[in-house]
Parts: sequence; structure tokens; C-alpha cells
Amino acid sequence: MVQERHLPKNFPKKLILDSTVVIQILAKDWFLTDDCVVIIPANITEELKSFESNLVLSLLENKQNILFLIPSSSSFSKAVNLAKQAGEYGRLSSYDLTIIALAIENPEFTIISDDNAIQNLCKIFNIRVESSFFKITKKKKYFWKCTVCGAKFTKKLVHCPDCGSPLKRYFSKV
Ligand SMILES: [Zn+2]
Repeated sequence: MVQERHLPKNFPKKLILDSTVVIQILAKDWFLTDDCVVIIPANITEELKSFESNLVLSLLENKQNILFLIPSSSSFSKAVNLAKQAGEYGRLSSYDLTIIALAIENPEFTIISDDNAIQNLCKIFNIRVESSFFKITKKKKYFWKCTVCGAKFTKKLVHCPDCGSPLKRYFSKV
């Protein structure tokens, strides 16, 4: 029996998926709720090997909330220009540039990608981007705080180097 795994509650509902994320969704049986709208570049077949891409397409193409889109050539040119300005042009495949172009055309959508070049370009030009679902679950970041003087440390210490008092561990969600 397949157990439905929902997206994290605060996860964006309008997504543009990189090819590796498409594969992750299938591999992990992520359940995309009906209020999610997902854009997948229609040239995903160029990016994935034929067996994988056929599998992806056969599993996803009947779902109404998944759109296979190709951007206009002017949006693609804009994406190329941004890539050149960001110094990422040589690191981005035409599939990557298609993702950027689709984000330019659909600014309310968030790119989901683990690709460093895509993430870097998006951050420079304020295009919405997130890492894949499996990294986005909230991580705990620990810190240690002196019980007397309140000094904070990011590494575990037994005693406060400032006043010698014991430290207590805390965490914040990042
Ligand atoms: Zn102290």
C-alpha cells in the first residue's frame, strides 16, 4: 500500500521543477495535493535518459495540475542574458535556461532545484527558488548559551570562556 506523503505545510504551491526533483518526487512517492500547480519544462526528455523520461511522462502526463511548458524564445533570450550577467552561462544547460525562462514568464512560481548555478542566478536576480523537498524540512541549528552572562556560542563548550559558568544547549529552526 502506498502511503501518501504530503509536502511540508509552508511549501510553495506553485512550482517549477528541475529534472532531478521530478525523479525524486517519483522515487519518494510524494503526493502533490490538488492545490499545487506544477510546471515541468516540456524538454525534460532532453535532460533525462530515455527510459527515465518515458517513465516520468507516462506517470505525470495525465495529471491536471502538472503543466508541461516551453517558454517563448524572447523569455529564453532573457534567461541567457541573465546567465551571462551572473557569470553562470557556461554552467547552465539549455534545460536549465528553460527553467529560468519559465520562471521569468511565471513570476508567482518557485523553482525547485538543487543545481548551484540555477540557485545562484535566481538569488542574484530575485527569482524565487528553493532546494528540493528533502532538504527544505526545517533543520535545527544548535547553539550554547551561558546560564549566567548570556554569551552565545555555536560550538559545544562545557564552561563559558568568559565567566566560567555552565552552558545550556538551545536550538533555533533555520
Ligand atoms: Zn558566561
